[in-house]
Amino acid sequence: MTTTRTTRTVLDDHRTADDFAAQYGTALVDRWDDLIDWDRRERSEQGFFAKLLTTAKAHRVLDVAAGTGYHSVSLARHGFDVTAVDGSPEMVARTRRNAARHGLTFPVVEADWRTLRRHLDGRYDAVVCLGSSFPHLFHEADRRAVLAEFREALNPGGILIVDHRNFDSIRRHRYRSSGNYYYCGTGASVSVARVDDRLCRFRYEFGDGDVHHLEVYPILSAELSGLLVDSGFDSVRDFGDFREDFDAYDADFIIHVARKS
Ligand code: SAM
Repeated sequence: MTTTRTTRTVLDDHRTADDFAAQYGTALVDRWDDLIDWDRRERSEQGFFAKLLTTAKAHRVLDVAAGTGYHSVSLARHGFDVTAVDGSPEMVARTRRNAARHGLTFPVVEADWRTLRRHLDGRYDAVVCLGSSFPHLFHEADRRAVLAEFREALNPGGILIVDHRNFDSIRRHRYRSSGNYYYCGTGASVSVARVDDRLCRFRYEFGDGDVHHLEVYPILSAELSGLLVDSGFDSVRDFGDFREDFDAYDADFIIHVARKS
């Protein structure tokens, strides 16, 4: 009886969670920039992604999980030729607004990664999928199909940078966000409301009592590295909280850098 109820709950959760765009309604998108705090995030990153892209001699960059445009704007300001993509209409509108606020005019495209190629013109030197966005894909077939889309969007020798929260730790109930990386806003607290090997539900509580949830697939680091290799990427390098020498259980975020062979 208990088992049946648990199983049904998990399946229901997956059906809702798989609709990523529905998770980013106006109420949460309106608060996203408070959550990430652009200035604090920029100080914590210290140009990490721009340096990686420069070392890889990338110029044309596709930011496939633009969100409110933080990385697209930051990379465009560093001189990269950026195209921003997101599948949430609310996020796309916010990226356009933030780009305009910074006097920038890069293309902003609304597209689901699963049909990315249909929306693109030409190829890119780098694809970046940041902010623990890739875990929005709940099905392995989708993860493989999307990595194939990302790879196809790259020039030969181009790089994919894809990150995720440290679910190896979170799945062992060792969630501990330092608040120093990615979600740098000081007016909200992020906690894990629930986690198993198929779904992780984060709870975002703001100072005024406003509460939001996001549900993702808790991908393991080795699982994504394996998928990258299977998808035809080579020389996969891993970083934890922007360092190549990191404690696999202590890092908040894991970043994979993979080259298209
Ligand atoms: N990169 C931003 C940041 O770090 O602030 C946003 C991260 S947010 C956790 C995840 C973003 O990925 C959302 O804007 C969401 O709409 C987008 N996303 C998730 N799944 C997607 C998909 N299948 N196609 C396109 N965008 C997707």
